[in-house]
Amino acid sequence: MTTNENWDLSLIYNRDDLFYEDLKQAKELLKTLFESKTTYLDSAENYLSFLQTNTSLSRLVQKMHVYAHLNCDVDPNNQTYQTMMSYVMSFIQDISTQLDFFEVDMKENEEKVLTFIKDHSFDDYRYVINETMRQNKHVLSQEIETLLSETTALSQVPSQAFDALRLEFPPLIINGHPNVLNSATLNMYLKNPSQQIRRTAYQQFFGEYKRFENVFAVTLSGVMNKDAFYAKVRKFNSPLEASLDEDNAPVELFDKILTKANKDYIHLFHKYNALKKKALGLKQFYNYDLNAPFIKIPNKQYSIDQSFKIIESVISIFGEDYLNIIKLAKTERWIDFHPKPGKRIGAYSSGSYDTRPYILMNYIGDYQSLTTLIHELGHSAHTYLSSQYQSPVNSEYRIFVAEVASTVNETLLINYMLEHARTKEEKAYFIHELLESCVGLMFRQPMYAAFEHELHSRAARNEPLSSQTITDLYKQMNEDYFGKDVILDEMTPYSCYYIPHFYYNYYVYKYTLGMTVSLAIVSRLLKGDAKQKEAYLNLLKSGGSEDPIDLLKHALVDPLDDQIYDDAFNYFETMLNELESLLFK
Ligand SMILES: [Zn+2]
Repeated sequence: MTTNENWDLSLIYNRDDLFYEDLKQAKELLKTLFESKTTYLDSAENYLSFLQTNTSLSRLVQKMHVYAHLNCDVDPNNQTYQTMMSYVMSFIQDISTQLDFFEVDMKENEEKVLTFIKDHSFDDYRYVINETMRQNKHVLSQEIETLLSETTALSQVPSQAFDALRLEFPPLIINGHPNVLNSATLNMYLKNPSQQIRRTAYQQFFGEYKRFENVFAVTLSGVMNKDAFYAKVRKFNSPLEASLDEDNAPVELFDKILTKANKDYIHLFHKYNALKKKALGLKQFYNYDLNAPFIKIPNKQYSIDQSFKIIESVISIFGEDYLNIIKLAKTERWIDFHPKPGKRIGAYSSGSYDTRPYILMNYIGDYQSLTTLIHELGHSAHTYLSSQYQSPVNSEYRIFVAEVASTVNETLLINYMLEHARTKEEKAYFIHELLESCVGLMFRQPMYAAFEHELHSRAARNEPLSSQTITDLYKQMNEDYFGKDVILDEMTPYSCYYIPHFYYNYYVYKYTLGMTVSLAIVSRLLKGDAKQKEAYLNLLKSGGSEDPIDLLKHALVDPLDDQIYDDAFNYFETMLNELESLLFK
């Protein structure tokens, strides 16, 4: 490994004591804010100065946090950074305790504040303050808020119990030898050529969930009851409305995403399943056969330089500015490439307004590594451009739009690989990769969302949720989801207890929207749509300066308009047809 292949965090602090200088300064700022508690709303000047000091404080905190957590993630046993991390975390706690007056103040002084922010000096703050005011409609009296904050720890018990449950799976016997079965190895067995092995792995794995079904029913219904409780006390019409409020998204959007995936276009997923059944030549095609191999995996390796070359070609469609960001990532060393003992697994992009958007990788040189690299570079370019074009308060983008930048890149990469593929087999492989990621995000997540929504609704109506009712519902939904060509295994109803996302309060449909929007954008970019390109690049520069839905509308991908779904699913169908002709013609 050359030194260019780990990240350069000295661009944040080139000496560790600079971290502590910032911490000292941040503490001063917090003191100033706290001391102005009774005077900061006396005049527009005081208020503006309070907001600006608060911005300076969060910038420092974010910078310190990025420095500590990046260091800890590659070197978890280094006490220097563990200490920094604990300083940052306890300081963040101090901030939220000492500044807890702000939310209630904003509610009680709404008229005054709205008058203050009419002035141009508040331009940067207007959007966030209006957002705070909007969300404040559901903030209750100080007394009830205090009571509610006391319930936080109690409300976390269901998900804590879910996380704490560690199942032990019986070993999988293959050719007389025991093999480790757990959530990390399950996928590998589901890709095994032998149907017998796939079935046994699936049944043994989810059999454990069945064994503890009553415990999981309690944790799952607990979290549904929790969400229903907070929605009710905060006077939302439903748990769904409470969750959407955060992004100021209408219930109509949620319904549309689910209708498109679960009804209007579900036949495309069924068609894909039928194709797999035919390709595998199985008479009895079960849901544990969906990952069985029917495409040859090319044994190609990509060095870091080769990956960058490909990425630069893919990205060149966006022009010089974007290309320069990719080059900076390399020359300024934003990326920590290689796996090493103790280093965090997986990959992410992380940075703040005052740091580079760093990338953690566990690069092993296969196609997956290349995909992950271009995905994370998408996030980093988004962060970089948003910081460059937005003020610090408006630069941070939300989950809703976050996955667009990464998924657009990933999809463009697949198209590039397809164009450059030399054999039919290679082509089939790349299309298969694309279809699989589409299925996960555009079909599976909406089914999960519909299931979660039904559980939330039953909880809101105080209907009891037993394991029998939960698994019956999940069975029915899976039958509709997979279609007539797929036989459900008897353990499938219990597989709902495996999925952590049901504990995240309506999170999954946001992935779906990200993928749908991305496919719509890519399908237009590939047709040479210059307006779409311009609008997309503007989206990357807009951070969190508007409601996510408005940002998408301005990027010409209005999520309430049927067109993006039609574009995305039609693109999926085109790819599916291409795979069909590669395999059978
Ligand atoms: Zn991502």
